[in-house]
Amino acid sequence: MTSLFRPSIDAMTGYVPGEQPKPGTPIIKLNTNENPYPPSPEAIAVLRTLDSEWLRRYPDPYANEFRQAISDVLDVPRDWIIVGNGSDELLNVVIRACADPGDKVVYPMPTYVLYRTLSQMQPAMAVEIPYGDDFSLPIEDLVEANGAVTFIATPNSPSGHTVAIADLRQLASRLSGVLVIDEAYVDFAEETALPLVREFENVIIIRTLSKGYSLAGLRLGFGIANPALLSGLFKVKDSYNIDAIACLVGAAAMRDQAYKNHCIERIKASRATLALELKKLNFHLWDSQTNFFLVRPPQSNAEPIYLALKERGILVRYFKQPGLDDKLRITVGTDAQNQTLVEALVSLV
Ligand SMILES: *Cc1c(COP(=O)(O)O)cnc(C)c1O
Repeated sequence: MTSLFRPSIDAMTGYVPGEQPKPGTPIIKLNTNENPYPPSPEAIAVLRTLDSEWLRRYPDPYANEFRQAISDVLDVPRDWIIVGNGSDELLNVVIRACADPGDKVVYPMPTYVLYRTLSQMQPAMAVEIPYGDDFSLPIEDLVEANGAVTFIATPNSPSGHTVAIADLRQLASRLSGVLVIDEAYVDFAEETALPLVREFENVIIIRTLSKGYSLAGLRLGFGIANPALLSGLFKVKDSYNIDAIACLVGAAAMRDQAYKNHCIERIKASRATLALELKKLNFHLWDSQTNFFLVRPPQSNAEPIYLALKERGILVRYFKQPGLDDKLRITVGTDAQNQTLVEALVSLV
């Protein structure tokens, strides 16, 4: 039978998310970089007291309640903000709005695999440029490729490293297309590229509440850019992309910076402890400004270790692809979870 799908859909591999066991399963889940602490109590309180009237009506197409919270907290005007159903939706919207079929979508590798999936769906031409040794940014090659869209995740996944603001500034000034700076992990990092949106009309910063704010299940992300750049994105997004619950709960979480910062500080402390423990076991670690580590086990036997941990109820991320298949990506959990992980690793390395 002939295919019902477009050739580009037949040709692509769908994105494979990390395993998601049911909540309550007795498992230590260190595979998808969720925050181990609960969401803000203020956000939970909003959820508990939501009036059903909010569900009867269509939600605000621009999620203004949430946008206003972002505006107040980050000190950017509300019309410089676009809200997405997870930041994944915004990555998709940028490609749909800015890359015609066949146009180049460029990004350094290794990075977030979804950039490839979304490009193939368009179909745009995914141009993958390898990072240099120790994750130096291949600026000249990125500039030369001059994509309709260029993605830089910083801090990056799965490496955990950050790209210098000066490098991003240089890229922004030399590219004629859009530069998407994906700051999914910025809450765990030392600096942000946010000031670049005021310097360059072709730069958009994309963030999420999934990692720093413990709200991966709510699906809420946002982009910050010059209103001229946002105008095209607003045409492409679903009109009611943010549900009423996410808008209100997200606004409360955003306004509760004290709670978020407290959780982040705990995770950063655990990150330092876990790094020491893994180094003691002779793992090679890359510096991380995120809530995870890319690690290479002393015998480079990443896949057997991944499987053995899984058997013991500990999920970490294994990428079966060149350059990564000797490594694991491990989310920083609570101190107790990390300790259980380390104890299991002692018998596996
Ligand atoms: C987790 C992650 C995202 C996705 O965030 P959502 O808001 O949950 O869609 C985007 N980019 C990177 C690099 C991520 O790791």
